[in-house]
Amino acid sequence: MARIVLLLVIGFVVYLALRGFLRAQARGDERPDRAVKGEDMVACARCGVHLPRSEARTEGGIFYCQDNPRCRAP
Ligand SMILES: [Zn+2]
Repeated sequence: MARIVLLLVIGFVVYLALRGFLRAQARGDERPDRAVKGEDMVACARCGVHLPRSEARTEGGIFYCQDNPRCRAP
C-alpha cells in the first residue's frame, strides 16, 4: 500500500514538473515576438538608418545611432 501511495506522489510531482516546464516554454516562445512587435523604431537624424529606440541615443530629443561615432549632433 505504501508503494502505491509513493508511486502516486512521484507521478503527481512529475506531472507538476512537466506542466511547469511546458508553460515556461510557451511563455518563452511568446516573449521575443512581443519584444520585436512592441519596440518603436526611430530614424537616426544624421544617417537616416532606422533602429530600435533602445539602441538609439538621444540628444536634445533627436535620435542618433548609438554605435556609429559619426552620428552626432552637429
Ligand atoms: Zn546614424
